[in-house]
Amino acid sequence: MKYLILYFLTLTTIAIAQDTKYKGQAPISSIPVTVSKPTIPQYKGTFEVTDGLYFTNDFQGGRLNGIIEGENDTIVAVIAAENVPINSSAWYAFKVWSDVSKNVTLKLTYQNAKHRYYPKVSTDGLNWELMDSTKIFEIGKGDQKFGGGSQSEAAVLNLAVSSDTLWVAAQELQTSTHVFAWMDEMAQSSFISVAEIGKSREGRPMKCMHIGAGKDKKMLMIISRQHPPEVTGYFAMKSFVENLVADTKLAKKFRKEYDIYVVPLMNPDGVDNGHFRHNVGGIDLNRDWADFNQPETSAVRDFMREKVKDGGKFYFGIDFHSTWDDIYYTLPDTIPSNLTGFTKKWLDGIETEIPDYKPNVRPTSRLEPTWVSRNFFFVEFGTEALVFEIGDNTSREFIKKKGKVSAEQMMQIILDDYK
Ligand SMILES: [Zn+2]
Repeated sequence: MKYLILYFLTLTTIAIAQDTKYKGQAPISSIPVTVSKPTIPQYKGTFEVTDGLYFTNDFQGGRLNGIIEGENDTIVAVIAAENVPINSSAWYAFKVWSDVSKNVTLKLTYQNAKHRYYPKVSTDGLNWELMDSTKIFEIGKGDQKFGGGSQSEAAVLNLAVSSDTLWVAAQELQTSTHVFAWMDEMAQSSFISVAEIGKSREGRPMKCMHIGAGKDKKMLMIISRQHPPEVTGYFAMKSFVENLVADTKLAKKFRKEYDIYVVPLMNPDGVDNGHFRHNVGGIDLNRDWADFNQPETSAVRDFMREKVKDGGKFYFGIDFHSTWDDIYYTLPDTIPSNLTGFTKKWLDGIETEIPDYKPNVRPTSRLEPTWVSRNFFFVEFGTEALVFEIGDNTSREFIKKKGKVSAEQMMQIILDDYK
């Protein structure tokens, strides 16, 4: 176990700079076709590469499409997407062990994508640390400082491998097992329950958590993980929700008035199959909120419509994601909604409460067709709505803090200004 010292870096010390000038993605201009397309199933199993050296992808969230002996004692791992075209957000996750302790030079190579995620390592699949940066060598790095243009063609990892299993993954593993366990734990509270609102294409439950008194007059909708590798967005959602259920005067008062609905895992099949972005229908779910060709998006739409039919009103919809930097994709500030002007006040409040933090806010005025969840929430239900993006490398401590401050500010402003 000596080699673990090499990895003794905490996730808060990540050194990759965030560029506040990063502006985020351009408006979506092409017309999405969200009718299902084939995806390529991944062979699942254990590979013995050389004598006594083993790799496996045979676990939830695993992704390792092939592994071969390369030149100069290098082992080459092939990582491929579920289908193409696809974003260059190559997820990888595998376990490695060896009969005899040794250093393994492993080259991560990608098909239809580049190296994006800084490797995390774990000895149990639950507690993760950043891999020691002196053991990572990126090859063919892009000339941009930030974003897609900064990605490398490949990455070589020097791994100290022994008979103890070493987990290596693009981000901390948060599969359906982890997420559902968190929901069950939350549901120990008397005012929280979990219900199934549909099934994914592969038959996994679409689970929705309810927080509140159950008046169902004033409601909020929170979703995350439409895109499987976007674990930092999931962490922000988790912290946000955990602060909405806090045992504080503010949170109690808020929960008396507002019922909160949370679907933390919008794409359970994609997550458990180790996808880069799509569901098992081969579709980017966050382009399906106009046509609803996929069961995962339809489940949430039907659930919300049912609640409204029963006399409720949604005031706010938040969709948590991850990208290169922390960004808020908002509606225009002045647009009339069920909470007109709220988002601006809220983001101003967050800025005031977190010293030296300047939120990167990107309003979008093109709201139809409602391909993305934010637009659907607003156009169909009149909610304030936004996409809450967290950087891939944002420190996990900062994510927690941001989730907490965001929840507190939201509750305070809604209670004070929208009586
Ligand atoms: Zn996303």
